[in-house]
Amino acid sequence: MRSFDENLDLYARLAIQVGLNVQKGQRVFIRSSLQGAEYVRRLVREAYAVGAYDVHVDWSDDKVNLTRYQMAPTEALTDVPQWLVQKYETLVEQRAAHMTVLAPTPDLYKDVDPQRLASATRAMREATKHANDDRVSKTNWLGMATASAEWAAKVYPNEIPEQALALLWNDLFQLCRIDQEDPIAAWRAHIGDLTRRADFLNRQAFKSLHYDGPGTDLVIELPKGHRWSTAEMTSDTGTRYVANMPTEETFSVPKRNGVHGTVRATLPLNYNGVTIRNIRLELHDGEIVNYAADSGHEALRSIIETDEGSRRLGEVALVSQDSPIAQSGRLFYNTLYDENASCHLAIGAAIPACIAGGQEMSDEEMLAAGANCSMTHVDFMIGSDELDVTAEGFDGSKVPILRKGRWAF
Ligand code: ZN
Repeated sequence: MRSFDENLDLYARLAIQVGLNVQKGQRVFIRSSLQGAEYVRRLVREAYAVGAYDVHVDWSDDKVNLTRYQMAPTEALTDVPQWLVQKYETLVEQRAAHMTVLAPTPDLYKDVDPQRLASATRAMREATKHANDDRVSKTNWLGMATASAEWAAKVYPNEIPEQALALLWNDLFQLCRIDQEDPIAAWRAHIGDLTRRADFLNRQAFKSLHYDGPGTDLVIELPKGHRWSTAEMTSDTGTRYVANMPTEETFSVPKRNGVHGTVRATLPLNYNGVTIRNIRLELHDGEIVNYAADSGHEALRSIIETDEGSRRLGEVALVSQDSPIAQSGRLFYNTLYDENASCHLAIGAAIPACIAGGQEMSDEEMLAAGANCSMTHVDFMIGSDELDVTAEGFDGSKVPILRKGRWAF
């Protein structure tokens, strides 16, 4: 049994060596809230230990962010300074490894006007879109979480604070395979398994997927040239990295005008601090024509009404119910964890890497290839022990993909 300190060191080593895969002489840029300080200090040490040239940390604070959303003039919320945009662009030019440490505070923004939040988020996305697209396609990057008191209280509401925090750390370590004898070897084997599944789906190049479950009867057509991917990617300098930890998904793009039927979410979605429960969507020719939720309806509306493309889907992801996160049965109120517990779809932008040549395509070319474009990309979870997914080939053949939520191939 390892001590907490040993586990936290391993968690940092895994991030730097497998997740980010920091290269000798590379710059490293880390964004974290203050709650992640203990973890970030270890990340910095591990990064220099593998030969990082310089490690820069950008700190933020939940309460400062909250105060800004509540009190700043509305115009200021959408006025993104040029120096900030330049900073991100310079980091990409320098091919800095880019890590985001999440310390989720699930209900942080529950009392903030969703319109103010939505316009601020949108302005930031628009201003940094170029740098962000470049970062995703050119550099090695990683998103990973650190436990925080606020997050632990949400996940374990009946425990005293210290116990809740200890339990949440335990979950993070276990779900990121830190509890295994050799976590780094365990990760390589795990990624290998996901890659084999993606390879099979790519060889088959299916025409569509049919989803069948309670409240869900949905056909998702896949565009010509779609690619199934895992979170393991390659930077333009040839560095293999894993963009999210944990990760359990194999994902691709739906055809933007080829989704038909109804779908019901199986887990609540936490969006900007608002919990959206029991999402139901109806789609015709790829467009969301009806939507409902039992709570957080305004937040759902703000997602769907972001722009043209946010009325359509941009991601289709397969996750087996055998995934350790699904097996834990726990709701984490955070997409990084909850999306990996469950098959999911995303409202909004398609992932360019999931369409042949997509990373060099303009928005117009993406649309012409059948992939969606939007300023937003929000995952919602649709997997369960009752979900069956069947693929259909262009020759009409049917292949079971998931049965009762588990891999069937
Ligand atoms: Zn996903």
